[in-house]
Amino acid sequence: MKASQFFISTLKEAPADAEVVSHQLMTRAGMIKKLGAGIYSYMPMGLRVIRKVEAIVREEMNRAGAVELSMPVVQPAELWQETGRFEKMGPELLRIKDRHERDYVVQPTSEEVITDIARQEIKSYKQLPRNFYQIQTKFRDERRPRFGLMRGREFTMKDAYSFDRDPAAAKTSYQVMAQAYRRIFDRFGLTYRAVAADSGAIGGDLSEEFQVIAATGEDAIVYCPGSDYAANMEKAEALAPAGPRPAATQAMTMTPTPGKSTCAAVAELLGVPLSTTVKSLVLATDPVNEQGEATGSQVWLLLLRGDHGMNEVKVGKVPGLDAGFRFASAAEIDEHFGCEPGYLGPIKLKKPVKIVADREVVVMSDWICGANAPDFHLTGVNWGRDLPEPALVADLRNVVEGDASPDGRGVLAIERGIEIGHVFYLGTKYSRAMNATFLDVNGKPQFMEMGCYGIGITRLPAAAIEQNHDERGIIWPDAIAPFTVVVCPIGPDRSPDVKAAADKLYEELLAAGVDVLLDDRGERPGAMFADWELIGVPHRITIGDRGLKEGQLEYQHRRDAAATKVGVHDMVAFLS
Ligand code: ATP
Ligand code: MG
Ligand code: MG
Ligand code: MG
Repeated sequence: MKASQFFISTLKEAPADAEVVSHQLMTRAGMIKKLGAGIYSYMPMGLRVIRKVEAIVREEMNRAGAVELSMPVVQPAELWQETGRFEKMGPELLRIKDRHERDYVVQPTSEEVITDIARQEIKSYKQLPRNFYQIQTKFRDERRPRFGLMRGREFTMKDAYSFDRDPAAAKTSYQVMAQAYRRIFDRFGLTYRAVAADSGAIGGDLSEEFQVIAATGEDAIVYCPGSDYAANMEKAEALAPAGPRPAATQAMTMTPTPGKSTCAAVAELLGVPLSTTVKSLVLATDPVNEQGEATGSQVWLLLLRGDHGMNEVKVGKVPGLDAGFRFASAAEIDEHFGCEPGYLGPIKLKKPVKIVADREVVVMSDWICGANAPDFHLTGVNWGRDLPEPALVADLRNVVEGDASPDGRGVLAIERGIEIGHVFYLGTKYSRAMNATFLDVNGKPQFMEMGCYGIGITRLPAAAIEQNHDERGIIWPDAIAPFTVVVCPIGPDRSPDVKAAADKLYEELLAAGVDVLLDDRGERPGAMFADWELIGVPHRITIGDRGLKEGQLEYQHRRDAAATKVGVHDMVAFLS
């Protein structure tokens, strides 16, 4: 590809709504262009990355024995009514009507359609196992679309669905996919972790998420450095012993001081007065003002008085922040925050809370809460400001760093991740609802055993950037770079030698099968290099008059601090 024929459109400034680095850099590098909330055009430079992601996923899915098909994006509601999801799914499901007032949905995933296909096509156990997949547009009307491609409303997902004759065979199909996912994510060259996830009503351990490790990730993952235990927070909490727990053993920002109540210590930390009768304390926040209107700028410190009765509530001011709203009763708090009613010990918020205060983001994680009795309060408060963007607050947890790992092989650590894939054993949930049966060896109808397997195709490049960038721009792993190599001639319009050498090298690299771009735009070196550093092409070759006279070209990897001289005739071999 020649730059003059391609489309390159870089920006100096990131858009104001770009909170995370991947969103900023993908926009600045001209890879995506926003059309509406969570809706983006994939510009030529970005599409090349997405196509490379798709190609790797397709190759490995095919290798694992899955077969590709493509299902409609707009799907009749009848199928979704069969499983009850048309009603149950809530506002994330985009429902539309056609000119005849018939209901449709825009696929957020495609269990219904694939199960409909399977019940028509698969009649006998002899046709099983089968795994169908598609790489297709999805739409989810996310409550908070954000972070560019990371949480879009329209996005591309690879979704696969396995069909088997019995649970044992279905588990084999699941394992085949879990293995294929490891191969896929290894090929992207990213640091990731496969973590156990909640398998919902189906139970068992057959649900894993693939999480790219990144501080900006929206998910908290819990793992044990000394063993292979790893789970998402939801799953880790489901496994953790319920009810009041002893204080965490590992020191965090604050640990209880002997002779001082937890509440007192927190109050001191925050510089708020503490009533002597305070028995319990909850730090709570919500973007709501005194009138109960959402403002996104309130932080509250609630000091709860009374011995678990919590009938009196005091609102303390957090310094520098506006104090918010007050609650009259414990019931109101429970109701407002969606807490379990009548708590003792740790309360668990059912929804995550993000604290935004005065355009400054305050992160609270590993909060403190609980009854203020010996060994009853939770420790591990982290109350910080000016923490790296975007500050995300996990829900109130009863699993904290330093807890013993459930496998008994060490203590737990917590890190943040971006969910890029999910494998899930479904059992007969959909086949039963839609009466998808096959005839078994004895000629008896049986419900098909299913599994579903997703990969966030368009989320993946964003996750890759969160992990691979510097102050100048993106640093793509080779596997998904828009171009692997860029050839940068210096002053080709002034020097026929430079132009000839660049053209020749470009042709040779093309012939060698290298995904190369020749920058023939005639830009000045500074602007040209800045573009390629922003776009993140991993390998750059610079051709200048002076070097050519000595028979040398310059090679520089995007991560290298300086260029390396390589002989004109050695470059193709050097790069292969
Ligand atoms: P999340 O927890 O991030 O909302 P999910 O669990 O709802 O994701 P799945 O239903 O498991 O998502 O879908 C499979 C994959 O699709 C996810 O692992 C993720 O990589 C990707 N994905 C889901 N929602 C989005 C989105 N809004 N934008 C981009 N990719 C997404
Ligand atoms: Mg979701
Ligand atoms: Mg998820
Ligand atoms: Mg998921």
